[in-house]
Amino acid sequence: MTKYYQQGMLIIIQEDDIARFWTKVDKECKNSCWEWINCKGRYGRFWVDGSTFNAHRISWLINRGQIPYEMEVLHTCDNKICVNPDHLYLGTQAENNRDRITRFNGKVAGRPKKFSIQEIDVIKDLYRSGMLQLNIAEQFNTTASTISLAVNDKLYINGSSYRAEENYREKRKNII
Ligand SMILES: [Zn+2]
Repeated sequence: MTKYYQQGMLIIIQEDDIARFWTKVDKECKNSCWEWINCKGRYGRFWVDGSTFNAHRISWLINRGQIPYEMEVLHTCDNKICVNPDHLYLGTQAENNRDRITRFNGKVAGRPKKFSIQEIDVIKDLYRSGMLQLNIAEQFNTTASTISLAVNDKLYINGSSYRAEENYREKRKNII
């Protein structure tokens, strides 16, 4: 039995909780990600000690240890359902936004209007967090109108819309 604090709340995680945690993880995913199976939302969710928590935070607790108060567990892989501890690090949400932009900067230079679904995820998250479309556009070396299309699910990726790609991802998750 191990005691952890997350966001100031005590959680007790038993050995059998840890065993149950790993039955919900698929370690055979692209880019060495370990994805949460049957993920219904943006993040995997794991029930332990009477509450549900984001699965990647529990992964941090059982693999790395405590999460300091007001720190976030962030992804280097930008795959929210990934719980591979090697893809996780501690930081603030502001650092996360900055890091995600930096990670994509090299890749988007020179091709201003084609984005991957992961990049659109980042754009939408930045927009939701209150960043102006114009500022997002500057970071991604594109125009505000392209960002507007992205946040409104009207930007096409590989011939299909963001929404269609997302539905496909959801279906795939439910099949696994
Ligand atoms: Zn990952």
